[in-house]
Amino acid sequence: MALYQPTPSFDLLRVPGLGRLLRWRWGRLVFQLPLLALAALVVYDGLTGPPLASQNIATVSVWVHYRGLVMLALLLAGNLFCMSCPFTLPRTLAQRLAGRGRRWPKALRNKWLAIGAFVAYLWLYEALDLWASPALTAWLVIGYFVAAFVLEALFAESPFCKYICPLGTFNFAASTISPLQITARSADVCRSCVGKECVNGSTQTLGCGAELFVPQIKSNLDCTFCLDCARACPHDNVALASRKPVIELATAAWPRRWDLAFLALVFAFAGLTNAFGMTPPVYALAATLSRWLGVANEALILALIFGLFMVALPAALGLGAAWLSRRMGAGQGRRWNRNSLRDLFTRYAPTVLPLAFAIWFAHYWFHFASGALTIAPVVQSFLLDHGVTLLGSQPNWRLGPIMSDDALFMLVLAAVAIGYLASLHSLQRVAAAEQAPAARRRALLPWLALWTALAVAAVMVFSLPMEMRGMIG
Ligand code: SF4
Ligand code: SF4
Repeated sequence: MALYQPTPSFDLLRVPGLGRLLRWRWGRLVFQLPLLALAALVVYDGLTGPPLASQNIATVSVWVHYRGLVMLALLLAGNLFCMSCPFTLPRTLAQRLAGRGRRWPKALRNKWLAIGAFVAYLWLYEALDLWASPALTAWLVIGYFVAAFVLEALFAESPFCKYICPLGTFNFAASTISPLQITARSADVCRSCVGKECVNGSTQTLGCGAELFVPQIKSNLDCTFCLDCARACPHDNVALASRKPVIELATAAWPRRWDLAFLALVFAFAGLTNAFGMTPPVYALAATLSRWLGVANEALILALIFGLFMVALPAALGLGAAWLSRRMGAGQGRRWNRNSLRDLFTRYAPTVLPLAFAIWFAHYWFHFASGALTIAPVVQSFLLDHGVTLLGSQPNWRLGPIMSDDALFMLVLAAVAIGYLASLHSLQRVAAAEQAPAARRRALLPWLALWTALAVAAVMVFSLPMEMRGMIG
């Protein structure tokens, strides 16, 4: 079995104090408990607190802060949210109560369900105006706990995280640009390892719930950063190591699977559509469609727009780019001609992920930077309502932005520009691996055109006035 030979220059698990804490048996719990407390507060205030979104901890913390901070964590480190995810606490309980459940059905061991759940979640967010409803936000959190518990009690292999959870799907796709990755410190040690406890577990420790085998990991896809593998490895051979930026996309490290490549495209187009959904033209588009189709139901019209822009368009444009790529490289040698549509689609489509990440980052940071300080009067007001005057007696509801509009617009533009350049770099590296030199140049052209169009569309969307959410308007 070929083992991945890493060259980690920095290993977070070797940082004095922090590394030990992370590898400690209860280390994950230390990070999960604060988020569990926050989730409890979100549910409590969401169900009993002020109904106004901009004055409730549930809506402000989830739709303004969580999303901004999770992007920062993904950019600077990796999938820290899944590492600290409170929804996996009942999951662990379910695992202990039910033991190893049934295998997740073979037909569902892919990302198709996750893609569907991700698009459905984004649709529900808009159709139910989740951002404006503290109570629905609280029910969303409760629903998450129940779903994670039930699925984990019934099945082995962490199916909720790996095959369904929309937040996990978002984090998995986004963490492919993150600078840290689980890897083995020494391939030789893994080769001679008998128990493979990192994946199999032992009598004292759980192995990887996602069934990832450390010495073969080349990607952050599916890795929750739970560090069970590091705790289970009897040879202290697991590193949470630094890696070159966008290396897994530039080296086409993913398995050649339709669902994974399609996930990358949906993630990119959903980022753009989600931002577009907060601008005035989307209302004009919805009104036009409603008139044409004679359908008054807003949720149905939104489903149509989301299905078109998040699913049909990326599928058609991605397949079109792969087909053109194949046609343009035709005649450049037998090796090139053996490339199937799937080969090209699955190798080139994931190179969109840096640009996709940048679009999500720009969008979520627009909301975060516009309303980050709102949390101060919200918490103050919550405390006052419960008889605590810790932060003073008058909430300052004018608090909100942490940067000027101009600085924020520059940040958004810079994010899209950097993401675009990183996607082009990945694209160029993937094309450079083609055997025929002429095919190298031609193969990337359709993808270059598509990523450029996506970046231009993103700049146009971010130049439009965007609806403020979860804050005083
Ligand atoms: S348990 Fe440790 S040494 Fe053994 S295969 Fe896994 S990472 Fe390598
Ligand atoms: S490889 Fe598996 S056990 Fe290790 S951090 Fe990732 S998900 Fe957790």
